Amino acid sequence: MLLYDAHNHLQDERLALHLAEVMPATERGGVVRMVVNGSCEEDWPAVLALAKLYPQVLPSFGYHPWYVKDRTQEWKQVLTRHLDQAPSAVGEIGLDRWIDDYDLPDQEEVFIWQMQLATERDLPASIHCLKAWGRLLELLQTGPKPRRGFLLHSYGGPQEMIGPLAKLGAYFSFPGYFAHERKLRQRETFRHIPLDRLLIETDAPDQLLPDNLNAFPLTDPKSGKPINHPANLVAVYQFLANWLNEPVAGLAARVEENFLRLFGESNTKERAKPTA
Ligand SMILES: [Zn+2]
Repeated sequence: MLLYDAHNHLQDERLALHLAEVMPATERGGVVRMVVNGSCEEDWPAVLALAKLYPQVLPSFGYHPWYVKDRTQEWKQVLTRHLDQAPSAVGEIGLDRWIDDYDLPDQEEVFIWQMQLATERDLPASIHCLKAWGRLLELLQTGPKPRRGFLLHSYGGPQEMIGPLAKLGAYFSFPGYFAHERKLRQRETFRHIPLDRLLIETDAPDQLLPDNLNAFPLTDPKSGKPINHPANLVAVYQFLANWLNEPVAGLAARVEENFLRLFGESNTKERAKPTA
């Protein structure tokens, strides 16, 4: 089985000291591709460096809504330069009304500019959204969006919005975090995702799975707090297959097709084949 992580943050400093152990573990688990999302200017060179080091890494560059207030005067040029070097994906970008002191007009301006860039280059965009689903839908309906589609990572929006969002080109990825008991509503929502729009993610080192599913316990060396290991992707596939009541191999084949359609076959296939 070939596994595809639609969203993680391998460049996160909490994983840095663990990488020598983490990457072989993901390989043994069957992870052939992972979309590694840089979320701010500081991240982007690190993401690019990882892509050069590890063939599994599909680099993605964007300004996350949590960090837009820190952007420099040159952020647009810096972002464009990274995408020139690795023209693979835009993200993580988005809208967030859950954090304290959010500045929505500011977030929207940065989001729309990045969606325009993704549209011009027809690159897949990875979108984060918390408590701003109505506004996101409006912006997607009226603003630019890449023809090939975009990912709504860890989709936690209402079930009724799946149809309208899918019509605009949305894919929806399921994180292991939704396996927690209290995430029943989000799990239920995933029973209604169109078959050709479903993806799976770890969001590592964030969105830790429940303890009983966490096959790769890992801690942040600095804080001593538990973090999510990218090789937990295997457990997320298994959990979702059980939840959707289908064999994991069938689910994996479907997710592979979806991943390749959205994130590009040319980037992915050659590297995926030898491990098949
Ligand atoms: Zn993320």
